[in-house]
Amino acid sequence: METWSEWKQAVLKTAKKAYREKLMAGTSGNMSVFIPEKEYMIITPSSYDYEIMEEKDIVVTDLEGNVIEGCHRPSSEWRMHAKIYKSLPHVRAIVHTHSPYATSFAVNHQEIPVVLIEMIPFLKGKLEVSAYAEQGSAQVGLNAVEILQRKNACLMANHGVVAVGESIESAYINSVYVEDTARIYHMAITSGKPVVIPGYEE
Ligand code: 13P
Ligand code: ZN
Repeated sequence: METWSEWKQAVLKTAKKAYREKLMAGTSGNMSVFIPEKEYMIITPSSYDYEIMEEKDIVVTDLEGNVIEGCHRPSSEWRMHAKIYKSLPHVRAIVHTHSPYATSFAVNHQEIPVVLIEMIPFLKGKLEVSAYAEQGSAQVGLNAVEILQRKNACLMANHGVVAVGESIESAYINSVYVEDTARIYHMAITSGKPVVIPGYEE
């Protein structure tokens, strides 16, 4: 029997790191990696305390949400994860957070222009806001895909952040840069008038 141990460890390590870095509060947020050979997702459990989460708590599902291995329900956002993996073959990992500065812009439905150098290589340009959809619906993923086909992250209206990458490490770093960008932009708009990087004034 396959154990998926290496993948589960990577998801677990990233989930705990993101929680420690305060990218999500309580049990919010979720993350996964995609195994293309099997079309399986290795995903965090739903509503589960990150502090006590262990490798055995991480869930393996197919893209229809059937549990292949695990003793918990998969994240309630598994449909969003599945929709992104089905639509964007280059994506191998997804990190979804409710990081506070970024989520405040998501609540305002306010995009963030290219004001920081990291936004160019990591996020692929300005931070756009995907349309609101009900939590746990496939529409959440569909709305995000509209942006993620061009970008490595987006703000999700009235909800949070979704970042993608070719590995869980890169998806995580992208989610960190989303929050860093939002925090710095917030400080910049409260202290002055931010200037967009030349050539990126779209
Ligand atoms: P889960 O605990 O089910 O993953 O839900 C958290 C969340 O962020 C919902 O959008
Ligand atoms: Zn969420």
